[in-house]
Amino acid sequence: MRSSYQVRAYNIKHNCDIKEFLEAYRLLLQRAIDEVWARIKWIEEHDKRRRLIPIIPKDGAFKHHELRYMLLNEWHYSKHYVDSAIKQAYSIIKSWRRSYIKGERSRRKPTVRRKFVRIKGTLYSYRDGIIKVSIRPHEEYLKFDISKAWFLSRAKGEMGELVLNEKYLTITFREKVKETKAKGKIAWDFNERSLDGFNPKLGWIRIDLAKLYHIHRAYELKRRRLQMMASKKHSLKRVLIKYSRCERNRAKDLIHKLTTEISRKFNSYEHGLEALKKEAMFTRSKEHNRNIAKSDWKMIQTFMVYKAKVQILNPKNSTKRCSKCGMMNAPKGALYRCEHCGLRIDRQLNAAINLYLQMEGLSPSPKLFSELMKGWSGFTLTGEEADEGFDELMRSIRLVNTKGYVCLPKTT
Ligand SMILES: [Zn+2]
Repeated sequence: MRSSYQVRAYNIKHNCDIKEFLEAYRLLLQRAIDEVWARIKWIEEHDKRRRLIPIIPKDGAFKHHELRYMLLNEWHYSKHYVDSAIKQAYSIIKSWRRSYIKGERSRRKPTVRRKFVRIKGTLYSYRDGIIKVSIRPHEEYLKFDISKAWFLSRAKGEMGELVLNEKYLTITFREKVKETKAKGKIAWDFNERSLDGFNPKLGWIRIDLAKLYHIHRAYELKRRRLQMMASKKHSLKRVLIKYSRCERNRAKDLIHKLTTEISRKFNSYEHGLEALKKEAMFTRSKEHNRNIAKSDWKMIQTFMVYKAKVQILNPKNSTKRCSKCGMMNAPKGALYRCEHCGLRIDRQLNAAINLYLQMEGLSPSPKLFSELMKGWSGFTLTGEEADEGFDELMRSIRLVNTKGYVCLPKTT
């Protein structure tokens, strides 16, 4: 059985005055980036359009000797910070390169603004509840007493990397976890207003995203009000930036809680998430809202990958294909109707079933569909209340109530 690591991080506030040191490290890191950047070779590529592809200098002579000595020359603190800065500079430039190649970033050198230092597990000591970090060899140490920290009784595994900034010390713990076999798979369809999951045993799981939607809505109104009142363009811009930061933080907070809840509730299931939603799914089609929905979905994915086993799925045709007969229809509104086999089903449930089939590597067929629905009774596939003369089959959907996040459709 494969094993993997789970990393948990805890923060403690500290009172050490390390402003000068952090600023020196920031400059060191920037210098490392500058030097690597200056040695990038740009190669012309004629793919679809002409553009320059960066080749990052990799040879060890430069990385471990030339660059290292150059940086050590002006560095008066412990030497190992130079090695960390080189490593970090390379990872910053590599991540810039990935985004540049995708067309998401311009050809501009990355700059370091945030002040923090990563300290590898081998570069500090931990004894009798005290973490000791060397700043200057043999003369200056930072000591952090964590003997009374609340998380010591909880934290499992070995202490790993530290991250130090002006106010906090972040301590990470790495724990080896055995990977257990997944109980089953749940495929999720994401929309502005809800997250809809499907698994044949659990049924249709609808998670209400109204709270998330309202956060964005509230800020949209705030912004509009401000734009009408503002007289000075300059200050307006600053306030708008502050607003979008607040909006993002509130959304992030909620998504954190939501994904924790999902991963706990469906612990040991594998979760299928679509790569990215097609544009047409978002009802308010303004550019801004579309970007918000995209960034929410990206955030849900990122957090889920941390917290659970995730499979990324191809979104192609998941909303158009009939999950029963496999034919394509153009869905309008919340109800999906198939012109070929007559299926009436909630549009998002249909998409979730399609995604589930993709996870299992199956193609839709009426026989398979009835097998998946076997054992359900009392609910309709559209989430509507069934009345007499309604030709839709009655199915049971075992909906799961994860605190405030799940909304149950009406029972019949
Ligand atoms: Zn059909």
